[in-house]
Amino acid sequence: REELKRHWFVGSIDQGTTSSRFLIFNGEGNPVASHQIEFENLYPESGWHEHEPLELLTSVEECIEGAMRKFADLGYSKADIRSIGITNQRETTVVWDSTTGEPLYNAVVWPDTRTKTLVRELKARGAADTLTELCGLPLSTYPSSVKLLWLIQNVDAVKQAYEEGRLAFGTVDSWLIYKLNGGHLAENPIHVTDSTNASRTMFMNLRTLKYDDKLLAFFGIDPNKIQLPRIVPSSDPDCFGKVATGALAGISIAGCLGDQSSALVGQGGFSPGQAKNTYGTGCFLLYNVGTEPVISKYGLLATVAYDFGGESKPVYALEGSVAVAGSGVKFLMSNLGFVAESSQITELAGSVKDSGGVVFVTAFSGLFAPYWIDDAKGTLFGITQHTSKGHIARATLEATCFQTRAILDAMEKDSNHKLESLAVDGGLSNSDLCMQTQADISGIPVDRPAMRETTALGAAIAAGLATGVWRRLADLKQVNRTGRTVFMPKMERPAAEKLFKKWGQAVEMSRGWVRD
Ligand code: ADP
Repeated sequence: REELKRHWFVGSIDQGTTSSRFLIFNGEGNPVASHQIEFENLYPESGWHEHEPLELLTSVEECIEGAMRKFADLGYSKADIRSIGITNQRETTVVWDSTTGEPLYNAVVWPDTRTKTLVRELKARGAADTLTELCGLPLSTYPSSVKLLWLIQNVDAVKQAYEEGRLAFGTVDSWLIYKLNGGHLAENPIHVTDSTNASRTMFMNLRTLKYDDKLLAFFGIDPNKIQLPRIVPSSDPDCFGKVATGALAGISIAGCLGDQSSALVGQGGFSPGQAKNTYGTGCFLLYNVGTEPVISKYGLLATVAYDFGGESKPVYALEGSVAVAGSGVKFLMSNLGFVAESSQITELAGSVKDSGGVVFVTAFSGLFAPYWIDDAKGTLFGITQHTSKGHIARATLEATCFQTRAILDAMEKDSNHKLESLAVDGGLSNSDLCMQTQADISGIPVDRPAMRETTALGAAIAAGLATGVWRRLADLKQVNRTGRTVFMPKMERPAAEKLFKKWGQAVEMSRGWVRD
């Protein structure tokens, strides 16, 4: 009877940095019901950034209940949902006690820089360069490995659990899957992660998709003392278990993708040479390089794009991450009181014709790709008596666009291929001004879909492919193709190049001028 059903729906949990969402997609890839909850971001000390793991879980559970109520109002029920997928903020590190299922500390969130000193010490050991060849990532404050090491070294409860073999580690996907399956009370507790999330830990070998003893040894992690999640493909009907309680009780979890991988899948970036940029809290550009990883020579990360298991080979990506995108807008809003809502930033930035010579290096957590300057600090250049809020707002939007341009240049060098257009999504991509600026600065068209929940859609696709909603990638050809907006470059190239050069000078000057 199930095979005969013609109109399956697929659910998607999207656990992001500022909010959690649950969306229910139809077979055309359009959301029919959704619910979103913002949760608290904690900044207990300068450079620290935490989430409460149980709050992440309850926000997800409440989103499921909320969206299911709206789904019921449309006349549907749980029986119409084939499976669900999960997509999540990556690198964010959760530790819990495997005997009680209780978190042992707050989640250390991906932009957190408390590990700065630890990273400096690890780099001084000398072998750090050889790690990138194995796992695709450079040593920095960003991957989960250094966050976990910090927790073992600095938090007594974590250290003790490690010594006693009770310490369970996971990224947010692992934590949610474990808890949704019933945690330690489940008959067979499920502790897994998919290879896209595992590729962000620095513990996984990019070619074998298994934990690598050399990587674990570098960080001094003893695999016998810690419970690491089993690495599985991103799309599978069995590995991720089933939801234990609530409105989705009994429904299979069949897909799991780190958020940026998920957005690439949701944008339909299945061919080598396709790229997408997601402007959320941070900004992440992923470029599909095909079935062999490319280790970057120009400051990009090599990562697993998606791994649909079965007969298909894993697909890899080159990635450039910008630490501050939408969070720059949030900074102007919450810290400086420039606007009351993030959507008003476009109007403010549009109140001036250009940034009036202001350059804002928004290095609140150092600079990520392609610069990797851990000790850069946020720095405003070019302020005069004439400078207004509008100029600073515009410079804030431009900062993300300049960093994206620098990443595109690096990708071109690593891949010997010039990108023809850039697919975009994420909260800040709602700003037409920001997207036009991106097209101007990078000199290529910027292509934005009407349905911008591409991150959530990707995980739904992973789950739907595992459970027969879509049987092959070709079935997805029409998904999320309609109503796209294309921003064409309008600025003269010499003017754009001049601005970009000035940005490069500002980056150099933001470097290491204060040492902690
Ligand atoms: P995440 O998944 O990282 O939580 P989202 O994709 O939801 O991020 O994007 C949220 C970010 O986008 C916020 O930092 C917010 O400031 C910014 N944002 C959302 N809508 C707009 C808008 N209309 N204009 C400018 N910025 C926006």
